[in-house]
Amino acid sequence: MDRFENKIALITGSSQGIGAACALRLAKDGCDIILNGHKFDERGEKLIKEIQDMGRKATFLEADLSKANAATKLITDAVAVFGHLDILVNNAGVEKKASFWEVTEEDYDLIMNTNLKGVFFSIQSFVNYCRKSKVAGTIINMSSVHEEIAFPHFAAYCTSKGGLKMLTRNLASELAQFNIRINNVAPGAVSTPINQNLLNNKEQLEKVLQNIPLKRMGKAEDVAAVVAFLASDDAAYVTGSTYYVDGGLTYHYEEQ
Ligand code: NAD
Repeated sequence: MDRFENKIALITGSSQGIGAACALRLAKDGCDIILNGHKFDERGEKLIKEIQDMGRKATFLEADLSKANAATKLITDAVAVFGHLDILVNNAGVEKKASFWEVTEEDYDLIMNTNLKGVFFSIQSFVNYCRKSKVAGTIINMSSVHEEIAFPHFAAYCTSKGGLKMLTRNLASELAQFNIRINNVAPGAVSTPINQNLLNNKEQLEKVLQNIPLKRMGKAEDVAAVVAFLASDDAAYVTGSTYYVDGGLTYHYEEQ
């Protein structure tokens, strides 16, 4: 029997990068998939075909998750597609580099609204659906090692992911009574389009790798494997946690 027999998952921001890898991994493990992004394009089309070729159902819903009402509506629309929803992966996220004293209100709002506010209201909408339909839902938030460790020149990003850490801790307590589990996955440095500048800069990349005990960038598939575990019944007793997928970066100690 497939790990996710008769299960349906919504993965936000899944046209590329970690979100796309999560969609493919969950589909491989037997899940039907609802993809999401700002706009449906050839990347979404290709993913739908790949998922259908695995014998699973897939569709794509457009939504700008920096807006609370769009996040709420996305859940309602997702439930309507296949009549059911079991797994919510809040993956969509943005980051912008700026020294703290130069962060604009516009950039602060974009980062906080996408990485925290949209996630907050998509979870609220999903929880309302689960309670009403008596679904034992599972939520996975794509956090970051920066829910825990500092990242100078990314203050708004760290603030958003730090907020996500406490949101998950808090909701694990509040939602357990409905049999809803919630966990964070915290990637380190993963080779995706969000890190294109780093990947193009050999010198900077070398410095980053020095701080990673496993001495390589993560792959989107490394992250997706942990998401699949947390979404499955293998993690039935796991809630309110953060799983680091960082090659050892977060708690690395450089011996002198
Ligand atoms: P990415 O930029 O490749 O993908 C992010 C996706 O989110 C894109 O498809 C983008 O269109 C979508 N998105 C952004 N804003 C959106 C919005 N308002 N509405 C709908 N979709 C939106 O980045 P990625 O590396 O795949 O990152 C995925 C998640 O993982 C993010 O939350 C990011 O913070 C987190 N993360 C990534 C890394 C890394 O090293 N790549 C490390 C730590 C955390």
